Amino acid sequence: MNDFPDDLERRCPRLGSPVRFGYCRLLAADGRVCPKILDCWWERFDVAALMRRSLSEEDFASLAEGRPPNKVASLIDLIRQARDRHRR
Ligand code: SF4
Repeated sequence: MNDFPDDLERRCPRLGSPVRFGYCRLLAADGRVCPKILDCWWERFDVAALMRRSLSEEDFASLAEGRPPNKVASLIDLIRQARDRHRR
């Protein structure tokens, strides 16, 4: 059983379209948590507690600090998101 509210939906400020929490938690097939996940979901449920439980201490600290991803990673992420949108 999945302990995550993956079916919850909201409008993504980056994509401009609705996304489910499951997408934010595991961006597409990449398996990475979106760096905006705490900002985007805190009003809906205790996303910080959930992420703290599910990530390593180091990964959660990085997420909580809101470290920006490096530029190459961001660019690759944007390209992948655009590609995924075209496939739908
Ligand atoms: S967490 Fe990331 S993918 Fe999810 S809605 Fe926010 S910006 Fe979009």
